[in-house]
Amino acid sequence: MPKPVEELKAALGTPRRIVIVPHQKPDADALGSSLGLAGWLQKNGHTVHVVSPTDYPHFLAWLPGNDGVVVYDLKRGDAEYTPLFAQAEYIFCLDFNDLKRVEPLDQLIRQSPAQLVLIDHHEAKTDFANYEYWRVSAAATAELIYEFICLMGGQAQIDQAIAQCLYAGIMTDTGSFKYPATSSHIHRIVADLLDIGIDHTTIHRRIYDTNTENSLKLLGFALANRLYVMRDHKTAYIALSKEDLKKYHHKTGDTEGMVNYALSIEGIVLAALFKEEEGCVKISFRSVGDFSVNEFAKAGFNGGGHKNAAGGKVLTNLEAAVKQFQQAVGLLQALKA
Ligand code: 5GP
Ligand code: MN
Repeated sequence: MPKPVEELKAALGTPRRIVIVPHQKPDADALGSSLGLAGWLQKNGHTVHVVSPTDYPHFLAWLPGNDGVVVYDLKRGDAEYTPLFAQAEYIFCLDFNDLKRVEPLDQLIRQSPAQLVLIDHHEAKTDFANYEYWRVSAAATAELIYEFICLMGGQAQIDQAIAQCLYAGIMTDTGSFKYPATSSHIHRIVADLLDIGIDHTTIHRRIYDTNTENSLKLLGFALANRLYVMRDHKTAYIALSKEDLKKYHHKTGDTEGMVNYALSIEGIVLAALFKEEEGCVKISFRSVGDFSVNEFAKAGFNGGGHKNAAGGKVLTNLEAAVKQFQQAVGLLQALKA
């Protein structure tokens, strides 16, 4: 039985060696939560390393603390990172709840003697942590990090750097405060963050107004040539091949938000974005209303996430992945127009 995080308060009263891990290809919530928590822990004398399983979008590099992030490098392999994990006393797992989501760091985490602390808001949690702070109704993990810091008695220590990190996570995971999980509670947290003096306009600009020439041209190409509508099933999807991505010099983060264009078509309730990689296809799913893409991704695409935003991965080429999707959608009575 995992313990409640309240029980960590005493343990965190003395300096600890702590590792914080966000999920693969961390987004602003995963990385902002990690750096916000790291900032607060460091203020309290702990030795903290944020270790990311993969790289992440360039538009997150401004987050305070980014320079200290260790990014797992496949060329170096586990040996390079083993000491960090072997010496850790606590490992915080943020914005994911299944160790598959942090490959290739999963082995290092399993082998570590550290106590594992899960803070997350995704559905379908697996049981691997010693301590848990998990709430599916939370709009963002950053909301839970704010609450966690308060629970530990640290509210007054939240400074501008920490607040910027948490605001970035909340802003993006609420879709700039428009998704259904955007509660009055989270607005009160945001009010506290604003009172600390953060510049929300600049944070928004740094995350959303950062197109490169290539990323904008890729978007134009995708919308003009790779967008398909299954009108009979209220579904639209964008499918990008390895060659498409190469042609536009695709970098991590360049397709962030692209799936929302498919979802924005009038009458569409299910949208997907397919990105072909070497040996697999990564898929983003979005929905509006009752249709659960979490269930859909879990049932057929080795993934999961939230009711209206989820992801998955299939070990095929693009054509097979799209075919699988079309068949799965075709079977959905719920989406029949
Ligand atoms: P995105 O489409 O933006 O990558 O992810 C949407 C949501 O689904 C995020 O909350 C993300 O953490 C989650 N997600 C993305 N890919 C996967 C996956 O392969 N497995 C699971 N369980 N969740 C995923
Ligand atoms: Mn999140």
